[in-house]
Amino acid sequence: MEDELEDLVPPEEYVVRWSFTGRCSDELSINKGDQLMVHAKITPEWWWAELRGVFGYVPASYLHHGVIEEEDEEDEEEDAWQDEEYYLTYGTLNLHLEMLSDKSRTEAYRRVIVNNSASLHRKVVMDLGCGTGIMSLFCAQLAQPAAVYAVEASSMVQHTRELVKQNACEEVVTVLQGRAEDIQLPEQVDVLVSEWMGNCLLFEFMVESVLLARDRWLREGGMMWPSSAALTLVPCQARRYYAEKMAFWENPYGLDFTPLQPLALEEFFAKPKFSHLMEPGDRLAPPADVICLDMHTLQVADLEEMQGEFQFHLEKSGVFHGFTAWFSVYFKSLEEGGAPVELNTGPDSEPTHWKQTLFMLDEPVSVNAADRIGGSIILRRNPTWRRHLTVTLHWDINGRTQEVGTKSFPMWR
Ligand code: SAH
Repeated sequence: MEDELEDLVPPEEYVVRWSFTGRCSDELSINKGDQLMVHAKITPEWWWAELRGVFGYVPASYLHHGVIEEEDEEDEEEDAWQDEEYYLTYGTLNLHLEMLSDKSRTEAYRRVIVNNSASLHRKVVMDLGCGTGIMSLFCAQLAQPAAVYAVEASSMVQHTRELVKQNACEEVVTVLQGRAEDIQLPEQVDVLVSEWMGNCLLFEFMVESVLLARDRWLREGGMMWPSSAALTLVPCQARRYYAEKMAFWENPYGLDFTPLQPLALEEFFAKPKFSHLMEPGDRLAPPADVICLDMHTLQVADLEEMQGEFQFHLEKSGVFHGFTAWFSVYFKSLEEGGAPVELNTGPDSEPTHWKQTLFMLDEPVSVNAADRIGGSIILRRNPTWRRHLTVTLHWDINGRTQEVGTKSFPMWR
């Protein structure tokens, strides 16, 4: 692609005003102050650029022509919620395609609507962060609610309106443009449905918007979907990943590159690995839920720090490389005694686009069947960057003081 585009315009040099983390392989991750070459201004929002030989899309508003004056820098202090970047990425199809193609996710929500279609009759629903409007359309087509308010802050909302019309749902679904925190609804709602979950459940902290909307718009005794959520953890092996990123340096082409291992540790194991698919034989113990959230009672202040304890009884001998985490969410039935629906993103369920998250220890530890790995996990929200958190793991083996470890993983800041 770059070759064709290079013919069109001469590349121009730009400076990065704010850091941006690419969310997929064709978006560049850039840091404040980086100088990059813009090869094509594909849309007013997204430009095709090159940084140190790597090509990808970058958000145009994050770039500045020429040197950044100090004054500018003070004026343009980065938003702690990074909303500009956040909503920009939801304004393009990339993430929506990824989410809609995720059948386990989308069909779990559809199942909730189908199972509750009788009880949804004449109910008022809020779909927070409706994106393309999929959940609202499910409600309107599979049940007979009185009204559905579909709220979306990104520019995708313009298309959502069209999709609602195209599918003949405009009588029931009202699309509202704006942040859920800022919009006004004409009435309170009976059900608040949202797909707010991020990596390791909380990353991006969209859950805060959901809690604030609950307190403002959900009527007394109304239903939250999801109704609860759990974070699950398991000690695991990760032989393949360890071999690829760390053991690799031991003897490439017959040479000793081990002096690069501290660098590899920093580069590959300091942060969690998103999009990890834990292999069936990798778990060392039965997984355990370490943090559980009740969406009806959870408070925004609770999100600042969450802690869970674990005690894993190993079921086999092997190498303890780290911990794998994933989440599940549960949707209560509107009917008394009705069966709940579960969306489980773990390794024993249909894979989802979240996959699992791997936390690598600095050094692998040999363990035996019948050993116990005990400890705790703390999720600490970043006090400055409100969409980020740090996960800290403490562990010991068989309660021995000489076999203990602790490691903190920023996600991402
Ligand atoms: N419900 C859609 C999209 C889920 S992704 C689906 O299931 O396919 C989350 C969406 O919520 C994104 O489109 C994002 O722009 C939107 N969003 C996140 N926080 C929001 C807020 N506070 N107010 C309005 N929209 C929000």
